[in-house]
Amino acid sequence: MQHRAIHLITAAWMAALASFASGPIHLKTRDLTAASYPAAEALQAPSQGPGHLLVQFAGGPSANDLRELQRRGALVVGSAPDGGITISADRPISLAGLAVEWSGPLLAEDKISPLLSQGGANGGPAAVVIEFHPDVHMRRALQLLRSANVQILRHPDLLPNHVLANATLPALTQIAAFDEVAYIFPASNDLIQGNHVMACSGAEMTAGTVGQYVLVGNGWSGAGAGVVQLEYVFAQMSAKLPVAGAQSEIVRAFQEWAKNANVQFVLGAGATGNQTVSVMFAEGLHGDNYPFEPGSPVLAHTFFPSPTDPEPLAGDMHLNEDQDWHIGTDIDLYTVALHEAGHALGLGHTDDPNTIMYPYYRLGAGLSSGDIAGVQALYGSPDTVTPPVTTPVTPPPSLPAPAALSLAIANPISTSVTTTAASISISGTASGGTGNLQVVWSNSQGGSGPAAGSANWSVASVPLAMGVNTILVVLSDAAGDSASQSIAVTRQAAATPPVTTPPVTTPPAGPPSLTIASPAMTIVSTSASTIAFSGTATAGVTSLTWSNSTGASGNATGTAQWNVPAIPLLVGTNTITVKAYNASGASAWRAVTVVRQ
Ligand SMILES: [Zn+2]
Ligand SMILES: [Zn+2]
Repeated sequence: MQHRAIHLITAAWMAALASFASGPIHLKTRDLTAASYPAAEALQAPSQGPGHLLVQFAGGPSANDLRELQRRGALVVGSAPDGGITISADRPISLAGLAVEWSGPLLAEDKISPLLSQGGANGGPAAVVIEFHPDVHMRRALQLLRSANVQILRHPDLLPNHVLANATLPALTQIAAFDEVAYIFPASNDLIQGNHVMACSGAEMTAGTVGQYVLVGNGWSGAGAGVVQLEYVFAQMSAKLPVAGAQSEIVRAFQEWAKNANVQFVLGAGATGNQTVSVMFAEGLHGDNYPFEPGSPVLAHTFFPSPTDPEPLAGDMHLNEDQDWHIGTDIDLYTVALHEAGHALGLGHTDDPNTIMYPYYRLGAGLSSGDIAGVQALYGSPDTVTPPVTTPVTPPPSLPAPAALSLAIANPISTSVTTTAASISISGTASGGTGNLQVVWSNSQGGSGPAAGSANWSVASVPLAMGVNTILVVLSDAAGDSASQSIAVTRQAAATPPVTTPPVTTPPAGPPSLTIASPAMTIVSTSASTIAFSGTATAGVTSLTWSNSTGASGNATGTAQWNVPAIPLLVGTNTITVKAYNASGASAWRAVTVVRQ
């Protein structure tokens, strides 16, 4: 257990701190205000501490407040919406002269999850996760727990400041009184049984990570009063995943929330726009207070909506490029994006292991009724509700169902293009859907924007970087439905003059390579239960295999001209990878994402 990095307040961050009117701090146990806090302990003494203190600032902590706290010897170890921060001090410190509304230690009764105290534990032992404040050394944490009557359990995926334990409610009450303990909540069955899980340390705020004791953030402005439209942009994608497939998984996660709440996600034009979720894979320092340290178990972190976090950072989702990213298997991008998108919408962590917003979640987890209740509490239910399926009746002829959204790229005609030009023009057609259609493009190498027109759309000039540019075109309609197509454009250096003396001998077989001719697109949507694949491979290839991220695999028939007549598909996203091998065992691969409706 390493000492966790403490967040230094830098000059750049001071300028970015948001200010707002403060209400109560929403803890899991209750809404906390100066009036509801025992007066004898609140801001009566001229100095406070030592230990961990919750401090609420009128209008949020200013940059000067944070700098002054740091100068007086306090570390910021956590934060809460509505102006709350948690600080740690190893000696009594004065809060005089700061815009502090009130302060005091977190009370023991506010550190035990309501699910534990009301859960009918009958005093019998329950499996729990004990969260310590992030500046507490694990040696000290274990020493404290040994002094109480708890049985410590192991799990490889625990966060650095978490301990898994069995304890009775009286023992938990004793533990909660320790200043070093931040919160205690129920352990999931996956934790108890040692199953692999993905972990999140919490939503980020500029001053510190949101503690597990905090109930919820606030939604984006306009939440609860009509549909809230959010934009997303892909600022930097992972080198470990096919760009179009990874983008499609992240968009699928956004749409899962949008289906269940009065929010819409549309592709935006720039990472610095307001109400924009900028998605970035990053390593090490990447422009905020939370570098992804080498070897860190952190998968990702996401900032809360404005004004809890300042624009343009608000809502941004950062994914740790150092992790072993996959589509459909661990570490599964869709599952992580689904959890993090909840934070981008303003949701905090729950204590309920059945929700995706519990800090530990597993591959294949979807939104549960608890998650949907949480997001609807902020935004309301979706405006456009799909009518329930009932006994078929003859539909009124005046109200035809909207045709399915359809998007085609007509020019360039091929999905894989090579050019020496610095830009390319693309155009195509769009139809179906509800209301106005919008077409936007983005390039995996950077750049994005709207297309001109909709039914017949065009982009005059997409700038190209050297190498492979995956250009994603997304069509969306007024109901929030979307369709996408992508093309790969390889930009090469201008051709050099031909070599005057060509080699006379046959060159040795190069590394294997293959193409997938059918399906022609890298993202395909179908309602069929199987799909056929075919393509070509270079002369040295001796065998080809295929595998589907949803489980099946097999061999292709043929080599130079190969095919697979029927790959089984599960409903949802199937990432199908075809691998070609040569006689020496070297391999190459291509993948297609097939979404079965
Ligand atoms: Zn989280
Ligand atoms: Zn970050």
